[in-house]
Amino acid sequence: MTSKKNRSDINGSVCLSPSTGVAPQTFAAAIQFFTAAQCLLHQNIQPDDEVTDNSKFDFIIIGGGSAGCVLASRLSEVKKWKVLLIEAGSHPPIESAIPGLTGAVFGTKNDWKYFTENNKVIDQALLNGSVYWPRGKMLGGSSSINAMFYVRGNTYDYQRWYDAGNKDWHPKIVANYFEKAESLQDQKLLKDPSIRNFYGRNGPLTVNTFNGTYRDASKKVLDSWDEIGIKTVDDLNKANVLGSGISRVTAGDGRRASTDYTYLNPVRNRDNLYVLTDTLVTKVLIDKETKVAEGVEVERNGAN
Ligand SMILES: Cc1cc2nc3c(=O)[nH]c(=O)nc-3n(C[C@H](O)[C@H](O)[C@H](O)COP(=O)(O)OP(=O)(O)OC[C@H]3O[C@@H](n4cnc5c(N)ncnc54)[C@H](O)[C@@H]3O)c2cc1C
Repeated sequence: MTSKKNRSDINGSVCLSPSTGVAPQTFAAAIQFFTAAQCLLHQNIQPDDEVTDNSKFDFIIIGGGSAGCVLASRLSEVKKWKVLLIEAGSHPPIESAIPGLTGAVFGTKNDWKYFTENNKVIDQALLNGSVYWPRGKMLGGSSSINAMFYVRGNTYDYQRWYDAGNKDWHPKIVANYFEKAESLQDQKLLKDPSIRNFYGRNGPLTVNTFNGTYRDASKKVLDSWDEIGIKTVDDLNKANVLGSGISRVTAGDGRRASTDYTYLNPVRNRDNLYVLTDTLVTKVLIDKETKVAEGVEVERNGAN
């Protein structure tokens, strides 16, 4: 005779034993589907280009980060220019592509793992007065590890830079460049003409909204800020970052839109673009007479 308890144990093991029915097949297929889903995020990894000592380039870009990947893409549009991009880190891991897993890249080889110096003023409540300060060490740089909030900045700052004599930083000029970079993809926002016309729609950089941010909790927080005068706006960038609202992000189709993914990867096959990863620039060589930078020294795989 089996006790009640034993009978339920037997049922448990029966449940997990192989069966040819539709239900276990469906569960197995679901697991297989989710396992295979990561392949959708896979990005073709191009091997490094052949670059020998004393090779000559029109431009050498140090660091394939947020700015470096954009520069490499834009400069190599000019076919007669030979462009070299040198990145200390390697290719971003799959965790970088998945927005919800950003934290998993912290503290890995794809992070410089900095800690701030204790300046005896800020962060004194922390151990040693020092803050962990992640920075991306991979193609895409910190755009491959950051929180993806897309904020254009306040035009007041650009105006001040312009007034200080930096004529290329007039807020209108800056806005044109933002538009050129952007590709607004949020279907709901695209239906609103005032937002649709504010953002660029044909640039390489995906601008979208995370689904999760529409949760009830966010709404309650926004409502409470609204009550104390920090008004809810339909779009923070359009509102010149004055007010509160759901943030736009540089991500779409379930993946991060780093500059590696949006700018570098699509042009990686250009003949005039050379990329070296895992290569640390240790010195910029500057001509003593002309004061012009004329080359770099690098450490690659531990060698100079
Ligand atoms: C955790 C985190 C969250 C953030 N969240 C946001 C956000 O939500 N929204 C936002 O707008 N900004 C955010 N930021 C800031 C934003 O990501 C950075 O300001 C921006 O990426 C900086 O771009 P960059 O090109 O100057 O530098 P990086 O993108 O950091 O690129 C520098 C690149 O140079 C490489 N490099 C450095 N030294 C050398 C060398 N000697 N030789 C070769 N290569 C070298 C690095 O490995 C790196 O790839 C965040 C940053 C971090 C770290």
